[in-house]
Amino acid sequence: MITGATQLAAVIGAPVRHSRSPAIHNAGFAAAGLDWVYVALEVAPGRGAEAVRAASTLGLRGLSVTMPHKADAAAACDELTPAAAALESVNTVVVRDDGSLLGDSTDGEGFLRSLADAGLDPAGRTVLLLGAGGAARAVAAALVGRGATVEVAVRRLEAGDALAAAVPGVRATDWPTIGVAAAEIVVNATPIGMGDDPDLPVEPAPDQWVVDLVYHPLETPLLRRARAVGASTVGGLGMLVHQAALAFEQWTGVPAPLDAMRAAATTEPD
Ligand code: NAP
Repeated sequence: MITGATQLAAVIGAPVRHSRSPAIHNAGFAAAGLDWVYVALEVAPGRGAEAVRAASTLGLRGLSVTMPHKADAAAACDELTPAAAALESVNTVVVRDDGSLLGDSTDGEGFLRSLADAGLDPAGRTVLLLGAGGAARAVAAALVGRGATVEVAVRRLEAGDALAAAVPGVRATDWPTIGVAAAEIVVNATPIGMGDDPDLPVEPAPDQWVVDLVYHPLETPLLRRARAVGASTVGGLGMLVHQAALAFEQWTGVPAPLDAMRAAATTEPD
């Protein structure tokens, strides 16, 4: 039951009504026995900073931030974690007891935890990362931080150069010239294969790890092909659940009930 004592967290974005975050977090609060509730708030482009500051005024305990507000949220926070500062992007805001705002970026660590669940340690491995958007940037930083060698495949070299400048150590390559088979790990950080899209971003090789950030559908055309040729696979759901769990733990101070959160992420329609 929602009472005057119920604590509030929310996701801001535009569009945000399709988000799985309310289902994931509310399942987590219920499983942990917390009197908390999580809602989705549609915030118009350009008003993200205002919304982040309002979270403190209104006494929200935490915010998730999604497109197009991640950079504005970073600018609006009082302090950033090293991951958020390096990326100038915030997907999690913690409202501290004194009302100050700490911004974090949990996508990269969530990604690494999803690999660890599958028994994959990227340290010392060669990674071909497809795409240079927001998710690719967080993943590239996490992989380089873990000691992987990262090549980013881009269809616009200026986007690749921007990523390489933001994440030192990454090399950007024009998409048509990439050598897929040479990489030990291939990560799809483009929307190719999302929804009803039947396309494969690349042709996987048998001895590779193939990781897809896309989680709708759970088994993308790329993952299906990878399994068919004998490659090892990791889907995008684990990253989605782990980045949420990292936010949950920062807000509440209690361990995230991962199984309940994963089940909610799987059953909630997009
Ligand atoms: P984004 O910022 O829009 O970036 C998309 C990237 O993909 C851009 O570099 C874009 O290139 C490239 N791209 C798009 N279509 C392409 C094509 N046909 N060929 C080559 N490159 C193409 O999106 P994002 O936020 O990074 O998200 C990327 C994907 O990751 C989405 O499917 C999203 O659902 C998924 N994701 C999953 C999680 C998770 O927790 N599992 C978290 C975040 C994102 P241009 O710049 O040239 O357009």
